[in-house]
Amino acid sequence: MNLILLGPPGAGKGTQAQRLEASRGLVQLSTGDMLRAEVKAGTALGAQAKANMDQGALVPDAIMVDIIRERIQRPDCARGIILDGFPRTVAQAEALDRMMADTGRKLDRVIEMKVVDELLVERITGRFTCAKCGAGYHDRFKQPKLAGVCDVCGSHDFTRRADDKQATVTSRLEAYHRQTAPLLPYYQARGVLQPVDGMAEIDQVTQQIERLLNGEG
Ligand code: ADP
Ligand code: ADP
Ligand code: ZN
Repeated sequence: MNLILLGPPGAGKGTQAQRLEASRGLVQLSTGDMLRAEVKAGTALGAQAKANMDQGALVPDAIMVDIIRERIQRPDCARGIILDGFPRTVAQAEALDRMMADTGRKLDRVIEMKVVDELLVERITGRFTCAKCGAGYHDRFKQPKLAGVCDVCGSHDFTRRADDKQATVTSRLEAYHRQTAPLLPYYQARGVLQPVDGMAEIDQVTQQIERLLNGEG
């Protein structure tokens, strides 16, 4: 099964992708995580991406398409992928259609995670992750069970993203509405778009998605 999780920054794409990875044996492909790994490794690509990310602007399509093209050809993707953060423009969606056709794959579903902008600012500014295993948390909505200890791996190290600040969030939301929201009619027209209420609690969002994937939705 090949899925896209589509929604604004902070909608819960990463949170749900991690759960689907565990429950369905799919591979989460987060372009944001890939770019942050390039930045951390100090590559030329990372330096170029960072300039855009710090502004809350999208990284150029050509770079993103190259990254995904290389990634989806790796053998682990044969069991199915969850795209988290890609595509983000119509040009990226068109490139993805071509890549999927070229590699004999089908895009099964695009799950739209609907959350209003007012809630996203708090979601994003309260976000933190385990520095060791990448598990996602929130100051208010998802604290570790034991304060300061990762539920998944027991690490005591957590990180916050440089771009998860109020100032950058506004630009990121603007980029979403202007450049990414046109993907909704794009996928609607192809009959693969299915909305879920991303404002429900984390477990309830998971249940909505599982129902859709089981064909019960
Ligand atoms: P995205 O990948 O779409 O940017 P995340 O999955 O990182 O979003 O979620 C953003 C923040 O909101 C995280 O701190 C996460 O723990 C929290 N979160 C995710 N889903 C929900 C939800 N349904 N209700 C409340 N908080 C949520
Ligand atoms: P979020 O889900 O919170 O918006 P991501 O981790 O998906 O954050 O992305 C962080 C940043 O990385 C984006 O603001 C953008 O600069 C860049 N980025 C990630 N994916 C893409 C993409 N497909 N196209 C262009 N830029 C991207
Ligand atoms: Zn951890």
